Amino acid sequence: MAAVLDSFRLTGRVAIVTGASRGLGADMAIALAEAGADVALVARGDTSAVTQAITQLGRRSCTVAIDVGAAQAAEKILAAVTAQLGAADILVNNAGIIRRAALLEFSETDWDDVMNVNLRAVFRLSQRFAAALVARKAPGKIINTASLLSFQGGIRVVSYAASKSALGGLTRAMANELAPLGINVNAIAPGYMETDNTAQLRADPARHRAILERIPAGRWGTGADMKGAVVFLASPASDYVHGTTLPVDGGWLAR
Ligand code: NAP
Repeated sequence: MAAVLDSFRLTGRVAIVTGASRGLGADMAIALAEAGADVALVARGDTSAVTQAITQLGRRSCTVAIDVGAAQAAEKILAAVTAQLGAADILVNNAGIIRRAALLEFSETDWDDVMNVNLRAVFRLSQRFAAALVARKAPGKIINTASLLSFQGGIRVVSYAASKSALGGLTRAMANELAPLGINVNAIAPGYMETDNTAQLRADPARHRAILERIPAGRWGTGADMKGAVVFLASPASDYVHGTTLPVDGGWLAR
C-alpha cells in the first residue's frame, strides 16, 4: 500500500471512545477499529451492537459502563481499559449531553449537568490520560467532540454553547502543553447530524427545514461522515496537527 495510506493505519493501537453506545461515538469507535485499533467503549447504556461490529472486524473491544461525570470516573476508565486491552494511545472525548430551554427559564441544574459532562469530564479524563502517556514516555492522540456551537451561540442551548465554546479553548490550551510531549490534541466540530442529540430539532418541521436549507451540502450529516476525520486525527497522518477544531459540517460555517 502507498506510504501515505499506511500513515492512517492504527494497527496495534488502543483507543478509548466515550459516549460509544450510539450516535457519533458508535460510528467513530467502529471507524477506529476498521483502521486497526482495539477500542474501549465508555457509556452508561448498551454497547453490544458496537462491540459486535468491532469484534467482527477482528479487533478487541471492552466496555466500561460508567457515567463520565461521576467522581473518579477518569481513574476507573483508565484502570479498566489498561487491565482489559492494555495502555491506551488514543482518547476520543465524545460523550455529551444537551438541554434545551429559553435563557430566562434556564435552570442551574441544566447548566451544571451539561458543563459537568461536556467540559469537566473532558478535562479530567484528558489530564489523567496524558499523565499516563507521559509516565510511559509514549506519544498519543486526544480528540474532542466540539460543535458548531464552539463557534456560534445557538438558540435555547445556553449551557451547551458555553460548554462547547470552552471545549475549543480547552483543546487549544491542552495542545500547547502537550505538543512538546508528542501528544496531539484536536477537536472535531460536527454540524447538524442525525442522532438522538438532534431528535427534538428534527421533529419540528419548521426548524428541520430551516436548518436543511442553510447546509451547503444539502443534507444533514450522519455518524459515517465522522469516520475519516477521527481516523485522520487519531493516526500518524496528523502528527503535525495540534490544537485545531475541524468542522465536519456540510459547509455550514463557510456560509
Ligand atoms: P447521542 O446520540 O445522544 O449520544 C450520546 C452518547 O454519549 C451516548 O453514547 C451516551 O451513552 C453518551 N453519554 C451521554 N452522557 C454520558 C455520561 N454522563 N457518561 C457516559 N456516556 C454518556 O449524541 P451524539 O449526537 O452522538 O453526540 C455525540 C457528541 O457529538 C456529543 O458531544 C455532542 O454534543 C456532539 N455533537 C453532536 C451533534 C449532532 O448534531 N448530533 C452536533 C455537534 C456536536 P449512554 O446514554 O449509553 O450513556
